[in-house]
Parts: sequence; structure tokens; C-alpha cells
Amino acid sequence: MCDLKQFAFWFIAGSQDLYGEETLKQVAEHAQIMAEAFDRDPVIPGRVVLKPVAKSPEGIRKIFEEANASPFCAGVITWMHTFSPSKMWIGGLGINKKPLLHLHTQFNRDVPWASIDMDFMNLNQSAHGDREHGYIYARMRLSRKVVAGFWQDRDVRCRIAVWMRAAAARLDGERSVVLRLGDNMREVAVTEGDKVEAQIKFGWQVNTWGIGDMAERFKAVSPEDAENRIKEYEATYEIPPALRNPGKERIAMMEQAKIEIALTAMLEAEHAGAFTTTFQDLHGLPQLPGLACQRLMEKGYGFGAEGDWKQAMLVRAAKVMASGLPGGVSFMEDYTYHFEPGREAALGAHMLEVCPSIAAGKPRIEVHPLGIGGKADPARLVFDAAPGPAVLATLVDMGDRFRMILNEIETLAIEHSMPKLPVARALWKPYPTMQDAAESWIRAGGAHHSVYTSALRVDYFRDWAEMMGIELVLIDRETKPVRLQDELRWNEAYWSGR
Ligand code: MN
Repeated sequence: MCDLKQFAFWFIAGSQDLYGEETLKQVAEHAQIMAEAFDRDPVIPGRVVLKPVAKSPEGIRKIFEEANASPFCAGVITWMHTFSPSKMWIGGLGINKKPLLHLHTQFNRDVPWASIDMDFMNLNQSAHGDREHGYIYARMRLSRKVVAGFWQDRDVRCRIAVWMRAAAARLDGERSVVLRLGDNMREVAVTEGDKVEAQIKFGWQVNTWGIGDMAERFKAVSPEDAENRIKEYEATYEIPPALRNPGKERIAMMEQAKIEIALTAMLEAEHAGAFTTTFQDLHGLPQLPGLACQRLMEKGYGFGAEGDWKQAMLVRAAKVMASGLPGGVSFMEDYTYHFEPGREAALGAHMLEVCPSIAAGKPRIEVHPLGIGGKADPARLVFDAAPGPAVLATLVDMGDRFRMILNEIETLAIEHSMPKLPVARALWKPYPTMQDAAESWIRAGGAHHSVYTSALRVDYFRDWAEMMGIELVLIDRETKPVRLQDELRWNEAYWSGR
């Protein structure tokens, strides 16, 4: 989906000249062993690049100047093997523009009880060196992640990996475009937002292209190319007999194949990582892009329906964070509730556009009428989402800031066939309860559109929101709606004027 090895993470061990050559040599050797071990570990998604031991204000500033200038540097990890006086770091940290991780660890795991002496303590003193370092981060009010623990522990590496994936999504966003085909759906508020602020905050360029350009590309796709694409469908999905033989339904599938080819070419030409469509602007296209959107999401593009560029961005960010992890990421919409006592659940779907990466089993291509948009019957992939833990995330524009709302959910197996609902769907139980989750989500202004992911837990989104400097509202097993109401008021005080 997205090769995370293209993202580099710079590793800096801090010290000072006072220690003398012999100690500094050992600091450098230990840092090198750690950087190489991180870099080799498959749990660590990006490259880990060792920088020279930081010993002076000039040297530290130079490293951060170079990090800022590097298009591949996605983040900087700092660790104080020895005591590195933090006034030396003010200049470098002050100009830094990359996400920061303060790794609080030490090279040796155990105290060598029998042999420990003052030389050992002078070399292995991150327990106090990292406190000095943590102070300057706190004093300068710098956004960063702090990870404490032994550097060889899997849990520590997993926490570093979560931050790296969020940082990769951030850098991906900085160099990407949301390609909007048509505007926001008429009169809808929650999918609107400040596109200039989005670019300032997230780096995303949110721009519009004419649906006519897309229609021209669609018309130019050859039948041979479309047939080749259909061969891919046949190898990947279940295709019912009506779509295997010539006829109206096969033509509908072929039109989606042509839309997919045309859209892919357009996204590549514009270096876009995400796109939106709207059923209110389809001039020159025979159908609403359905199967085509599902396929493009499966390939790693972000998508938002009805012009929802914020969710398109967030789908893309989640796709980058989830690259190579089990589970999937999709655009999603809350549709209908099941209020049976004790078995309360929400049924999520969209008109067509749900990503097959979240499917249980093999998706099936079907062609059915669509009661909205006044176009031909669109082909789409039909499936149930795989059961298991998942997260819903949505991004709304509060006028003075972006707010991300998360809900931990449990996706359930769908026990009923629903033969008259031929769309991809997911059935879930939100935490803490459906009622409390819905009250909290609605109070926070959460949209009907969201990102659904079975690949990511909330900590990925938390790290991403921290790097982006946006508000995060979490609805999980511990949420109490009345407390959340207070939290939203406190957030109002914290975020206003930022
Ligand atoms: Mn919708």
C-alpha cells in the first residue's frame, strides 16, 4: 500500500564534551548498536538513521537544520545516554519542524551489582540525563511523545512504531493532494470546512478538478484496457453469472472498470493521495463511481463521498499508518440502529463506497439500482466487515480548530443475510454502550461519515493528532457522557485562541 521504509527517523544520543573521549566513544558505540537493532527489527516500520552524538549547541542546531531540510526525515528520536545540559538544545529544538520522540531508556538492562563503580554510573546515567532533557521539552511546551522502558523490549519498540507510523502519515500528507471531483453536497454542514486551514495544519492541498476532465478520460479508456481490469476482478472477487456473460450488468461492471482506470490516471497525474466524489455532479459519467472507489481505497487512496475531503484525508492518513498491518481501513457512514435490548448495534455502510480491505471473506460484485443521483445502476462490491475490535475516527471543523473524535467499537458477525441490501456493511457495538457512545459522539459534533479501521487502535490516532496539533475526543470503555460534557468545555478553554 505504502512503503514505510521511505521514511527516515533520525536517532540522536545526547551528551557533552565534559565526559572525555573514552566515554563519548562508548556513547557513540552504544547508540550505533541501538540504531542498527531498531533499523533491522521488522516491528519498526521506518529506517532508523544514526546521527553524531550531540555535544554542543552548534552541533545540535546543525542536526535539526538538516532534519528540517530533509524531505525523507519523518521524525527525530532523542535519548540522553549521559547528561546533556539542556540549554544546549534550545536553539535546535526551537527551530525543529519534525515530530519528536523522547526515548527514555538505557543501554544496559540490569545494574551490574558486583562490578558497578562510578565509571559505570557516569556512562549510564540516562535516569538523570533524560530528566534534564524532559524538562526542556516541557519548558518549551514542545509537542512530543515520551517512551520509557528498556530499548530491547517489544512493548517499547511497538510504542515507537506507533509514533513512526503516525509520523509517516504526517509526512505523506505534507506532500499530497486531495483531488475533489465536484464540491461539497449541497446544504450539508459537517462535511464542510476550512481548506486553507487544513493545508496549514495538515499540509494537505485540497483542490478541485472538473468532473468534465474525468469524463474525458473515462471516454478515452479502451475496451481492451477495461477487459484486462475485469480479469483482475475475476481473479480477486466473486463474480455472479449475470456479470460473466454479455449484457447490461457486464456493461455496468465495465463502466466501473473504465472509471477506475480514468481515476487512477488522474490521481497519479496530480500526485493525489485522496479524492472525493459527489452524486450531485456526475456530468458525463454513466454511474456514480462505486466499485471504482472501493478498488482505489483498497490500493491505499483516501476517499470521501459527497465531497467530504476531511474524511478522505483521514482515510489516507489511516491507510499510511496501517500499511503492512493486518486488518483494513475504510470510509464509513453510520446508517441504521438495532435497538433490541442487550444486543444494541449500529449498522454502517455507504451507498456503495466501502473498502474491501475490511471484508470478511471474498467480496462479490453486484449491479443494482441506486435510489439517488438519477444515473445508471452502478456495480459495487458487496460484503460484511470482518468481526473483531475496530475504531471509528472522524474529523470535524469547529470553526477555530479541527476536532478528531474516536470511538472504540466491536464489530459483530452479521447473522442475517439482508438479501435486499446489496451494499458492503459493518455491524458494530460501540463502547462503552451504544447509548452512551451515540450521546457522546453527537454531543462532540461527530459526523455521520468516519474512518473505520480494524488495523489501528486509538494510540495511532492519538499520536497523529498530537503531531498535527488538533483536538482529540476519545469515546471508549471508560467514557461517561456527563464527564465528556465537562471535558468538551475544558477543551473549549484550552483550544480557543490557539
Ligand atoms: Mn454519505
